[in-house]
Amino acid sequence: MIRIAIDGPGGAGKSSVAKALARELGIIYVDTGALYRNIGLYVLNKGVSPKDNGTVVSLLDEITLELKFQDGRQVILLNGEDKGDAIRTPEVSMAASAVSAIPEVREYLLETQRSTAKRNSVIMDGRDIGTVILPSAEVKIFLTASAEARAKRRYKELLAKGSEVSYEQVYNEMVERDKNDSTRAVAPCVKAEDAILIDNSDMTEEETCKSILKIVKKKSKVRNFYSFAKPIVAPIYRLVMRVKATGIENVPMDGGLILCANHIGAIDVISIGAVCPRQLTFVAKKELFSVPLLGTIVKALGAIKVDRGSGDVGAIKASVAAAEAGKVLSIFPQGHRFPGVDPAKTSIHHGAGLIAYHSGCDVLPVCIKIKGGRYGFLKRVEVIFGKVIKNSELGFENGGTAEYRAATEKIFNAVVEMGDYSSLPAPIPKRKGGKKR
Ligand code: C5P
Repeated sequence: MIRIAIDGPGGAGKSSVAKALARELGIIYVDTGALYRNIGLYVLNKGVSPKDNGTVVSLLDEITLELKFQDGRQVILLNGEDKGDAIRTPEVSMAASAVSAIPEVREYLLETQRSTAKRNSVIMDGRDIGTVILPSAEVKIFLTASAEARAKRRYKELLAKGSEVSYEQVYNEMVERDKNDSTRAVAPCVKAEDAILIDNSDMTEEETCKSILKIVKKKSKVRNFYSFAKPIVAPIYRLVMRVKATGIENVPMDGGLILCANHIGAIDVISIGAVCPRQLTFVAKKELFSVPLLGTIVKALGAIKVDRGSGDVGAIKASVAAAEAGKVLSIFPQGHRFPGVDPAKTSIHHGAGLIAYHSGCDVLPVCIKIKGGRYGFLKRVEVIFGKVIKNSELGFENGGTAEYRAATEKIFNAVVEMGDYSSLPAPIPKRKGGKKR
């Protein structure tokens, strides 16, 4: 399954590009604006002002909207009837924009949009797809263009349909709609932090499609590599390293999550990845990216590059965005490996708390124990997934270092409590003149 979110202002060409891409990728295209347009049309036909919030909300009880797909084409039935091009007039555009600012209207349409994407691979366009409807979409694009370029396109479209409008009218309405859509209090039309911005003012539709397709293919490579490699590598790894996992049922199967574990050795992230039922996103030190072969694998797995020791803000932002985007971000609050040391006696950094605060995601504590041989293979690895710590339990009020530190301590205490380190392998001595482990 792949979910592609395309957001952006009117006239950026979202729908034509999304339709072409859906055909190319063999997935369905969901035009969410058409849902708001149908409500706008209904309200206008009732002689009600779309800005009269109270009356519009009361009309919702009279409306049933069905979103269907016939031969791969979206059909919306408003009280059982397909309204066709009647929802495409400039009046309905303005009405849709007005009703879409009403929280109850957005709430009313939320489940219809989400449930379609649960059952199918989709390319969905709108204003809040990447931010609200599908925050965990695999690909997020924010497609925009200058107001002039967008108004010209819309004007041409309307002329072709035989509409008698002036360019000035189209331009002015577009600017007004942009303002309504981007400044409203609920789900404004803004770029999701992890969306890729494309300004297609000087691009053709074909060029826009090509650039989005390139992004989709790049993202699918990462997903494919993980889903291709995991079923082959994970069972062998589990067998060789004698990996035992407990508490797998504690891993939530949907939504962003921060997975925090103690750090014993380089194999920790592989051990967790080999038993975790969800794909992990992890942070890797920048030096690893240039190691032959390993660097290629780390890149293919979509790791986040971190420059350790420089307080890498970019890596923190990317980590927050990954969790917000519905991924499972694995982090080690100890920052370094501590082989043979009781984690309760090590110091921790406060990054986990900081990322939890900014992403709003819950945290899953994980304890790793490595028993047996000190070096290499034939150890016995145990991965224990603890109970989820809800973000609301982390004591955040206004953020800040003290809160991040306290939250990380709470998380790490949960990790430590799961471990019994009485039979720790002895620390590996540093070799004289050799490399540190
Ligand atoms: O995309 P389209 O121009 O058909 O959308 C009509 C109106 O519906 C937009 O101006 C916007 O106000 C609203 N809309 C929205 N959220 C979406 C899709 C459309 O608010 N996801």
